[in-house]
Amino acid sequence: MTAAIIDGKAHAAALRGRVADAVAAFRERAGRAPGLAVVLVGEDPASAVYVRNKGKATREAGMASFEHRLPADTDAATLLALVAQLNADPAVDGILVQLPLPAHIDAEAVLLAIDPDKDVDGFHPVNAGRLAIGAEGFVPCTPLGCLMLLKDVHPQLAGLEAVVIGRSNIVGKPMAQLLLQQSCTVTIVHSRTRDVAAHTRRADILVAAVGIPRFVQGDWIKPGATVIDVGINRTDAGLVGDVDFAAAQGLAGAITPVPGGVGPMTIACLIRNTYVSACRREALDAVAL
Ligand code: NAP
Repeated sequence: MTAAIIDGKAHAAALRGRVADAVAAFRERAGRAPGLAVVLVGEDPASAVYVRNKGKATREAGMASFEHRLPADTDAATLLALVAQLNADPAVDGILVQLPLPAHIDAEAVLLAIDPDKDVDGFHPVNAGRLAIGAEGFVPCTPLGCLMLLKDVHPQLAGLEAVVIGRSNIVGKPMAQLLLQQSCTVTIVHSRTRDVAAHTRRADILVAAVGIPRFVQGDWIKPGATVIDVGINRTDAGLVGDVDFAAAQGLAGAITPVPGGVGPMTIACLIRNTYVSACRREALDAVAL
């Protein structure tokens, strides 16, 4: 068997197109564009690229992008004052503070300061809580993108065995919550799990969010499983995922490549969340995206 390749780039382009159409209709009705504010502190090169790409995607969708670049030695009080200003700004529907922050700033305090109703990254504890109880909020963009890719392969996820490798607050835990909401039977494995492969071999749906290059071996995969590789690892051989793609391709039913799988969905989901936020704030019905 050769796995079908899940083309995240094409899915993301389609989602961005749907968001752009929805934004055009929003602008007509609300008389303004949805706005996303992105805050970058310092010069981390990878973060600078992410921020540039987010700004570009925001503008391409017909939304307003407010970019705030602060020097690496910015103190916490200055950053918190900017967040407060963005919370109060009616033109701003979404606020994203790019992580990681410099070590002298308490990242958790900054995330807590963001208005949960503008927290389009879905990292605020209020949104994590809303996800846990199934209330309306914002879901972190990477797991949301993974779910969209999964639903394209399995319109009906109920009853499937899902295994998530990783329990971070930004990927593993919200991914598990989303799969549970879809009525999958969910197992989360992590660095203290005794036999990771024994769990993955049962998985109809396997999501790897570990951060270790080619961690998941071919023989860890149940034949026909759908494999979502969240990993982005920079190696001498270039960008690789958390799954040994070449080995997995012979067993999986469908698999995301790295790059070109989950990655492009993350930014597409960010602009989707920003559009949804704008609709909620204007009390307009959002188009289902
Ligand atoms: P993280 O915070 O470092 O979490 C990694 C998780 O993997 C932890 O829960 C850890 O367990 C678990 N783990 C580590 N070693 C393990 C082992 N030997 N066996 C089983 N589990 C193990 O990473 P993250 O932020 O979730 O990111 C994961 C990967 O996704 C990274 O490669 C990152 O670059 C990538 N990523 C991609 C996107 C995207 O847009 N595509 C977005 C975010 C992240 P413990 O909790 O026990 O330590």
